[in-house]
Amino acid sequence: MNSRPVRRIALGCLLMVSLVGARAEGDAERAAPTRPGSTASPAASAPAKAAPSPAPAAAKKTPPAPVLRFPNPEWVDITVAAKRLGLKIAWKVSGREAVLTDKDTRLEVASDRIEVELDGQRIFLGQALVSRGGDLFITKIDLERCLLPLVRPELIGRTKPRPKTIVIDPGHGGPDKGMVNTRFNFFEKTYTLDTSLRLKKILEARGWKVVLTRNDDRQLKRGKQEDLQRRADIADDVNADVFVSIHFNAVADQVEKVSGLEVYRFTPQHQPPVTRALRRLDDEILNPGNVNDVWNSLLAFTIQRRLLLELKLDDRGFKHDRLAVLRLVSCPAVLIEGGFLSNTAEARRIATATYRQQLAEAIANGLTAYATQLESLQAGAKPKGR
Ligand SMILES: [Zn+2]
Repeated sequence: MNSRPVRRIALGCLLMVSLVGARAEGDAERAAPTRPGSTASPAASAPAKAAPSPAPAAAKKTPPAPVLRFPNPEWVDITVAAKRLGLKIAWKVSGREAVLTDKDTRLEVASDRIEVELDGQRIFLGQALVSRGGDLFITKIDLERCLLPLVRPELIGRTKPRPKTIVIDPGHGGPDKGMVNTRFNFFEKTYTLDTSLRLKKILEARGWKVVLTRNDDRQLKRGKQEDLQRRADIADDVNADVFVSIHFNAVADQVEKVSGLEVYRFTPQHQPPVTRALRRLDDEILNPGNVNDVWNSLLAFTIQRRLLLELKLDDRGFKHDRLAVLRLVSCPAVLIEGGFLSNTAEARRIATATYRQQLAEAIANGLTAYATQLESLQAGAKPKGR
C-alpha cells in the first residue's frame, strides 16, 4: 500500500476546472430532475456528512465528528464485500487491514483510508473504510460502482455495445492557456492539442470514428463554464460512445517532488470528490455523468493500467472529482492528467514529440482494451487481461 498522503496537493489545472464545476452544480441543482429524496437517506451515511450549523457562532467551528451507527444499509462488511467480488479475504491486521485475492487479483484495503490498491494500481474510493467492533466496512457505493466494475465487470448486470465514436477533448485553448511552465514558456493547451491530434490519428487507423472538440488553438465559447458545456455538448451532438479529456497537471509547491499520472472519473452521487473529505448538499444531485458510474470506473481503470504499463511514470492514482466536462457528458468519460508541467524533468519530457506519441498510443491501447472488455461482456464472457 502506498504511504503517500492522499490530499497532498492542490491541483492547478484541475482545481480551476473543478471550481467551475462546483459553481455549475448550482445550476444543475436547480435544473436537476432527480434529487435523492428520502430514500437515499444521506443522513444515515454519517461518516461523510457535515453536521448542520444552526447558529452563526457554530458555523465558524469545525463540525463535530459524525457518529456512524451499525447496522447501516449504506455500509457493507468487508467479508460480505469480498464474497460479492469473488475474492478470499486474509487479515493483515484483524478488523483493520485486509488483502482480498483470487488467482489474478490482489486488493489491499485498510480502515480510515480512502485509497486502496488493486493489482498494484492506486484507487481512490469515495469514502474511507471504517473499522467498528472488530469489523471493517466499505460503502455500498464504492463496492458496487467502483470495485465491482474493476474486479467483476461480468456482474454489473448490464452491457454496452463496443464503442464506435470517440470524442477527444484537448483541454483549454485560445486565451485559456491552462497550466504554464514560466521557466520554459510551456503551455498546457499546446500539448493537449498535439497529444489529441496524435491520438485521433492512431484511433482512426484502428477504425474508430473520432471527433475533436477543437482542432486548433481556440476557445470554444467565451466564458469557462460555457466553454466546458460546449465540449460536453459536442459529445452528445455526435452521439459519442466515449469522451476523453486530455490535460497536463501542475502544482504550486514542491514542484520537483510531484510528478506522474492521474486518471479521473466523475464522482458518484452521494459521495464527496477526492479533494474534499466531507459530503455536502450538492453531492446528493444525480448528474448526467452519474448515469455511467460503472462504465466510467471501468474505462478510467483500464486506461490508467495502460498508461502505467507503457509510460513508467509515477502512479498518482485513479481518482474522481466533480469536473464540469465529466459532469455534463452523457457517455462514459474520463479525464487524463498526462504529467506535471511544474516538474522540470517531466515538463521537458512532455515537451518532446516522442513522449506525446507514447502517451497517445497508451491512451489508444487503453481505449482498445476497454472496447475488448465490452465486447466480451456482450458475448456473456468474463473479460480477460485486466
Ligand atoms: Zn488542464
